[in-house]
Amino acid sequence: MAWTVRSAITWGQAYLSNNNIENARLDAEVLLSHVLSQRRIYLFIDPDKQLTFSEISTYRTLLTRRTRREPIAYITGKKEFYSRSFNVNGHVLIPRPETELLVDEAIKLAKSHASVLEIGVGSGALIISILALRKDLVGFGSDISFDALRVARENAIFHGVADRLHLFAGDTLNPLAATFELIVVNPPYIKSGDKHLLQEDVALYEPARALFGGKDGLNVIKAILMNVDRCLGRGGRLIMEIGDDLLKPVCAFLADRQSLVLVSVLHDLAGMPRAIVARKENGQFCY
Ligand code: GLN
Repeated sequence: MAWTVRSAITWGQAYLSNNNIENARLDAEVLLSHVLSQRRIYLFIDPDKQLTFSEISTYRTLLTRRTRREPIAYITGKKEFYSRSFNVNGHVLIPRPETELLVDEAIKLAKSHASVLEIGVGSGALIISILALRKDLVGFGSDISFDALRVARENAIFHGVADRLHLFAGDTLNPLAATFELIVVNPPYIKSGDKHLLQEDVALYEPARALFGGKDGLNVIKAILMNVDRCLGRGGRLIMEIGDDLLKPVCAFLADRQSLVLVSVLHDLAGMPRAIVARKENGQFCY
């Protein structure tokens, strides 16, 4: 039987839904358009187009990967974030829509020509989006994973910000002896005991060290809050994503640190607390 775009989608949808994949139709369409190197709309423009043997065989392989719960973003190697496409692979967290909040806040808060540090860049989606929207800023980004830094570098080049983004290997703030006007971070904050609550796609495939923040989810958050004031000039800000159940302990921890004050809490589209903004109160002025 000759396979057409239409029959391949119908077959792929049934195969995925028989394997309990939720958005079977959408996933089948995304995977087929990826195989054909076309945008999804193309599938509807030419549904009777015949597929080659090699296209069908690649499509089946990708569908099988999806039945094993591999995230679509890792299969296609791409994820949209703040209207830009980012390369991703299993070494980096797949950027989440709620992290777009941090981009909005950063471009609002950053003064002209400020230097912005992101701790733990992963794919680079956050810092690259900020730099792409604010051409006056200079960016710095660290990660503990060389594999992640490679992905961030590719993305920085693709989005034309590589000349303003300095990437380096490092664990939280350890190697830094510089001060920044703005620091952004999406730390790992899921409690280790909550692993069973995650979608299988996430738990099985995304890098654990980008997700889990120890027993109370606060290991990395605390390390950052303890050290970040060394790296901020007076008046400098920290924008940090947090788990929606961590606002209270994070505020309590901050209350004990005189040099850093909470200035606002950002809520996501579901109305949950998703990020905090804190300001450095003493030391040399950075603005
Ligand atoms: N928000 C992500 C999730 O729930 C976790 C990202 C993180 O730990 N920073 O899967």
